[in-house]
Amino acid sequence: MKLSISVRQAVYVLVASLCCGALSSAVQMYLGIQQDRAVQSETLARSIDLHRDTLGSAAFILDESQANEILISLIRQPLIKHALLLDDFKDVLAEQRRNDTYPMTGYLTLASVLANIPSVQSYDISVGSDSSRYAQLTVTIDESVLAHELLNRLLVNFSVSVLFTIVLAIILVTLSYVYISKPVINIAHWVKNINREDALVTLPYTKDDELGILVNRFSKEWQSNQSASIKLNEMVENLKRSERFARLLMENSSDAMFLCHYGTKIHLVNNLAENLTGYSATQLIGKSLAGFSGIYSDSDLESIFSKVILQEIQGYEDTFVLTLGEKKKNIYLECRACSIVIDNEAFVMVNARDITEKKLAQEKIHELAYFDSLTRLANRSLFTEQIEREIKLHQANQRYGALLYFDLDQFKKINDSLGHSVGDNVLIEVGSRVRQMFGADALCGRIGGDEFVIGLLDLADNLSYAAEQALQMSNSLLSGISEPLHFEGVTLHTTGSIGIAFFPDESIDANELLRRADTAMYKAKSLGRNGVQFFEREMQYAAQHLLELEEGIHQALDQNEFELWIQPQVNIDDVLFGAEVLVRWNHPKRGLLSPPTFIPHAEESGLIIEIDKWVLNESLKQITQWKTDEVIGKLETLSINVSSTFFLQIDFVAYVIDLLNKYQVSGELVVLEITENLLLNNFELAKNKMLQLKNRGISFSIDDFGTGYSSLKYLKELPLDELKIDRSFVNGLTDGSNTQSIVEVVITMAKNLQLGVIAEGVETKEQRDLLSKLGCKQFQGYLLGRPQPSAEFTNLLYK
Ligand code: C2E
Ligand code: CA
Ligand code: CA
Repeated sequence: MKLSISVRQAVYVLVASLCCGALSSAVQMYLGIQQDRAVQSETLARSIDLHRDTLGSAAFILDESQANEILISLIRQPLIKHALLLDDFKDVLAEQRRNDTYPMTGYLTLASVLANIPSVQSYDISVGSDSSRYAQLTVTIDESVLAHELLNRLLVNFSVSVLFTIVLAIILVTLSYVYISKPVINIAHWVKNINREDALVTLPYTKDDELGILVNRFSKEWQSNQSASIKLNEMVENLKRSERFARLLMENSSDAMFLCHYGTKIHLVNNLAENLTGYSATQLIGKSLAGFSGIYSDSDLESIFSKVILQEIQGYEDTFVLTLGEKKKNIYLECRACSIVIDNEAFVMVNARDITEKKLAQEKIHELAYFDSLTRLANRSLFTEQIEREIKLHQANQRYGALLYFDLDQFKKINDSLGHSVGDNVLIEVGSRVRQMFGADALCGRIGGDEFVIGLLDLADNLSYAAEQALQMSNSLLSGISEPLHFEGVTLHTTGSIGIAFFPDESIDANELLRRADTAMYKAKSLGRNGVQFFEREMQYAAQHLLELEEGIHQALDQNEFELWIQPQVNIDDVLFGAEVLVRWNHPKRGLLSPPTFIPHAEESGLIIEIDKWVLNESLKQITQWKTDEVIGKLETLSINVSSTFFLQIDFVAYVIDLLNKYQVSGELVVLEITENLLLNNFELAKNKMLQLKNRGISFSIDDFGTGYSSLKYLKELPLDELKIDRSFVNGLTDGSNTQSIVEVVITMAKNLQLGVIAEGVETKEQRDLLSKLGCKQFQGYLLGRPQPSAEFTNLLYK
């Protein structure tokens, strides 16, 4: 343990006092011994002087006894222990001696050495009155007496001195303790026990002296320190709080956050950044943010950051390429960035938001917006854009290009009969053949159901050479398409029709170019399919006419321009038993139009639904009328054609039933004629609909039987009533194409399945007879009655 300051002070004072005391005693003793020596010598000399005369006389007279007496008296003196008197002839006259008064102990010997008194002294004694003769007195001093005295005095002196010194030291120590040590100890104790938060209300020392100044000064410094430290604490607390707040903000941010040094090195991240990258914060810190980027190098990102720091930009987009096991994954990020200065160092805070889903959705939207999902070819809007550009380019460089408008023949039939998945596969295959054939040199697109467009660019600088080339390519396209297609065990032979229009021509735009090529394509179709047609101006008028037709149908429905025509059906005895309703359009300008001039177009545009609804309505209305007029009796059934588009409408059944209710017509009177193509593809649905309508008594007849994909399955399983042998087979019976066996099979099959059979398009007696010989008992055709306006037909009923 360290000695306290007061103890040390006491010890130092004591030691110093003792040393000083000892020193002063020694000096005093030394001076005392010197003085003693002189006094002793003088005392000795004086006592010798007392006996000088008597000794001189005794020497003069050589009186030994007197001399001895004198010497005895001399040695009685404490100082002298031996005296020897020599006469003037140096002969011993007298001699006396005694022992040392005190035995010579070590102390005494030491004292005598210290006193250093000459132990033998000689004196010259005048013999008688003769001053030239001298006897010699030699005395030996009793050193033990001297030393004893000296020792005693020394002891006394030393004791006094020590006592004095101790008293002095005590006084000094006490004073310094009271005035210095104690206050210092108090102060030290006070200082030692001050707590950080103490306000120092009472001071341990208040006197106006140096200590007071120290304490005062200290307390002032403490107070100011204290308030500084309170402020500091508050600041630290605030900082901590704002740090916590910042952390919380970072951790609860919906973005991944990367605080980066200007040089793109990551300095701090939040947990979303860890989640995003799959690395922990410690792994991320120190890495370069550009290391994750699939777009930016370090220097790219640095230059982005410098723009952020200059506030030229506030964000950028990036793609992180992350490795997940073996796979690589791209994450699209929207990064907002701002610069932050911390301790004079510039940082960039990057808030990265994962927009992968949005981006993919955008890409998807873009793709959906610009590409055909089935064939991956450009869709109409992309193709139009592209061809528009090309038109402008060709206008500038004065070279010719061609647009091929390619449409599959009878695609609708494939779709209806084999199903949409086969139809889709056909389109996909055709698309891929188109792409293979024309590759990157042309623009390829699919702009409608089965309509493909091919932009042949930069063909030639004159029109006739360009036409030659376009024709060549069209023909090779047609032969490429006619290669058989194999799907789901079915082999299909498709053909197509191509219309060609050239660009640039005057100032036509993409839409006009497409219209022209489309018109040419329709022309090719109307000329017997599987062919190529160049656009000619006259075609435009025909196309115009088609467009007008569509508008016309709308108008016809509004203006009631359609008419019901009815064709009789007779039995084996030529007795009328039924009829088929056939629509006619009484066109205000073009006169009476038969169905083939508008039905196919109405089917394509969907307007057939409205026409069918009109026909159905009018037919039932007609039946009601016949019932009212009581002429219905002859007529067992009225056959009504229903297009597949209408039949497949979700509310078809409800519509028909509503009408039966509305006109109070029994379903027994109604036969609906449907084509077999729609049945194959939508078997369950069709069956369901038919069953519902059968519940109301309605019968079903398969129209044009034998021209489609006749299948035993549907004949067996569907609730059918009648097969209608197609006109072409009836015709074939007599025109040499020998369709008799087919008709025979159909009739036998119908019999076996307990279905009725009716032959349509019976024009000659020969046909009728042959049919009846083969077992057919119902007939329809010009031979038996032409289609006629319903009023005329009604007259037949009166007969
Ligand atoms: P379809 O259902 O096969 O109707 C029979 C067609 O053959 C009718 O032609 C009729 O006039 C014609 N025809 C009748 N007997 C003979 C004949 O002995 N010889 C010849 N060469 N032809 C004969 P139309 O009226 O021109 O109708 C053509 C097609 O239009 C119909 O064929 C039918 O598929 C469709 N159609 C007619 N009216 C409607 C309708 O109201 N709705 C729907 N969806 N289609 C209809
Ligand atoms: Ca029919
Ligand atoms: Ca028919």
